[in-house]
Amino acid sequence: MKKNKLETLCVHEGQLKDLENKGAISPLYMATAYAYDEVEVTRYPRYFNTPNQVGLAKKIAALEGAEQGIIFGSGMAAISTALLSHLRSGDHIVLQADLYGGTTNLIVEEFEKFGIEYSFSPGLLASDLEKLIQPNTKVVFIETPSNPLMKLVNLEAVAKMAKKKGVISIIDNTFASPINQNPISFGIDVVIHSATKYLGGHSDILAGAVVGSQKHIEVVFQMAKNLGGSLSDYTVWLLERSMKTLSIRVKAQNENAVELAKFLENSKSVDQVYYPGLKSHPDHELACLQMNGFGGMLSFELSRSHDLDLFQKNLHLIKPAVSLAGVESTITIPTKTSHALISSEERKAQGIKDNLIRFSVGIEHFDDLKEDIDQALIKSKL
Ligand SMILES: *Cc1c(COP(=O)(O)O)cnc(C)c1O
Repeated sequence: MKKNKLETLCVHEGQLKDLENKGAISPLYMATAYAYDEVEVTRYPRYFNTPNQVGLAKKIAALEGAEQGIIFGSGMAAISTALLSHLRSGDHIVLQADLYGGTTNLIVEEFEKFGIEYSFSPGLLASDLEKLIQPNTKVVFIETPSNPLMKLVNLEAVAKMAKKKGVISIIDNTFASPINQNPISFGIDVVIHSATKYLGGHSDILAGAVVGSQKHIEVVFQMAKNLGGSLSDYTVWLLERSMKTLSIRVKAQNENAVELAKFLENSKSVDQVYYPGLKSHPDHELACLQMNGFGGMLSFELSRSHDLDLFQKNLHLIKPAVSLAGVESTITIPTKTSHALISSEERKAQGIKDNLIRFSVGIEHFDDLKEDIDQALIKSKL
């Protein structure tokens, strides 16, 4: 059968047929009780097999070129279940050091209890990760582009290294979204999304997804049904609806982000911009190789000639918010939010300066975003 392109998959893949009324969209099945007699499968929401869950998993799997998927109640439920299902007591995992804070917390706060060893790699090259692989290593975990400095990891190199070493490669693909990056096409085994971000896209859904080969998803499922992190079918239905516009949203965010990055790079009020779409970004060439678009996330350092708090306070359109990837533009100051609990020395070691601002670019008109930034820069000048 002909494989549809991403834009078409967003709209149609996994959609449920309304056989009775012939409505144009998926009907919503809220049932938690299904027949067990004379049926092919016994359905139950915590078995991840209600009609709406199965349909949405099919959509996300198709977008990532995966065989199967499972929808979770949050990105962290997806990450914790994917990791714990592939690791047991005595095993070891290698992770890049620049990770979503919640993932780092999961590892350092919980893994010792399960007797799982871990190593964080400050270097992001496949060879850096490879050096940390031990005989008991089972998983290598990456996240690219990373938060908040948009560093890139070479997908193909990591996938090859993992295959050579006989370990499973898992990626958190949240920042790129399936529109901009499809790690399975580079040989990565398992792809995770916090669907709270681009897949949902309207800052009103908390959800997650894990996709991969049938073999890997079966392993995840066996633990997932015991941990019980499934998503309510109403939210599954809402997420499917939101994802119909995923490709046009992300493309608009990509375009705005490219323009914004260039504008900020040319501004005297900005010291440094971190965006893989800029030629000045150290991983720009790699971004061109493995990404279809450069994404809607960027960060920049406000010059010392401006007051950071005044700048934030004077933005009217662009709101401060901890989450990201919505249709509205938002900013966070990592030293006050995601990286507030880390010491200032440790932050410095990670390259996160106190004047760093992370920008989640929305779908507004670029001129309005630019105007908002311009007036806030004037008002925050020291
Ligand atoms: C938000 C986020 C998560 C966690 O997702 P939740 O839906 O909040 O549980 C994981 N990884 C990345 C990159 C994220 O941005």
